[in-house]
This record gives sequence, C-alpha cells and structure tokens, in this order.
Amino acid sequence: MRCPACQAENEDSASACVSCGSSMAAGPTQVVVTVDLSPGTLFHGRYVIRGLLGRGVMVMVYKAHDRTLD
Ligand SMILES: [Zn+2]
Repeated sequence: MRCPACQAENEDSASACVSCGSSMAAGPTQVVVTVDLSPGTLFHGRYVIRGLLGRGVMVMVYKAHDRTLD
C-alpha cells in the first residue's frame, strides 16, 4: 500500500510508513519527523544548524547558516 503522505510503497500490513513514519491508518495524516538538528548539522544540503531559537507545541525554530547565499 502507498503512503498517503510521501507515496512510498509499504507492506500492506504496515501501520506506519517505512519512509516518512506517517501513520498508515485512515484519517488525518500524522507526520512524525525525527531529524537530528544539533549545532553543526547540515540540513537539506544547504543550511548549517547553529542552534535552537525556540519551540512551540508543533514547531521548533532553528538558527542556521545558508551556505548558498552565505
Ligand atoms: Zn511515507
């Protein structure tokens, strides 16, 4: 069966997507993103994480250096 969030192919019995971790159950899409964004981490091949600026219930805001635009 195909993941509703990222379209990756999964086992029919899968309860969560092997690619993005989204729930495969019917209903609202829940995307669980687990990314290590500790200082020095290169994100998206472009942004070097400098540190965490703040966090809310569903969001985390990081300060980062854009290597492309410097
Ligand atoms: Zn997925």
